[in-house]
Amino acid sequence: MTERTYFDSDELETTAEVVSCTQQEDRKYRVVLSRTLFHPQGGGQLTDIGTIGEAAMLKATVEESEVVHLTDAPVVGAVTLLVDAENRRRNTRYHSAGHLISVVVERTGWRAVKGDHRPGEARVVFERDGELAVPAEADVEVAVAELVGSGLARVQKTEDGRRTVTWGDLPAYACGGTHVVSTADVGKVRIVSAKDKKGQLSVRYEL
Ligand SMILES: [Zn+2]
Repeated sequence: MTERTYFDSDELETTAEVVSCTQQEDRKYRVVLSRTLFHPQGGGQLTDIGTIGEAAMLKATVEESEVVHLTDAPVVGAVTLLVDAENRRRNTRYHSAGHLISVVVERTGWRAVKGDHRPGEARVVFERDGELAVPAEADVEVAVAELVGSGLARVQKTEDGRRTVTWGDLPAYACGGTHVVSTADVGKVRIVSAKDKKGQLSVRYEL
């Protein structure tokens, strides 16, 4: 099983051993590594991209709890992994913004149930148990801006194999994504819309 180094590290460069490299029909390669810094597509967060040795790493996915890297060329032996910093930073900021929106909206009684953190499509979806008002977009935006302005420090813990993340003393969530070191790193969050559709509240946002 690949060790997922990105769980505990913000490093963007490391070395690893190639465990297997298999050519696909489309002339791309499926690569399994001894350990990886690449965050795979999933949990509403987009894939990291970068390089493995001399090859471009185009997409990482999870298949049967293993991380599979898609490359444009074969790789073998000991290799250097390099994560594309700009792509990671954007994905991390979008994903972390989703957490802050969850914290703010859950204060009104809604429960966050899923998120999609792709730029242009970013949203957090909430459910309710009884009748609840839809929070005003401006109120959510102001409250999120307060959390960003507070520059709260990230707190990541792994207990009994369960990884949780939060910032400062905010409520913690079980999560396998990548997270900003300080809420200040999220920057300006704009709430695009907050709409109740048949009891599900969808809060769309952009950075
Ligand atoms: Zn997360």
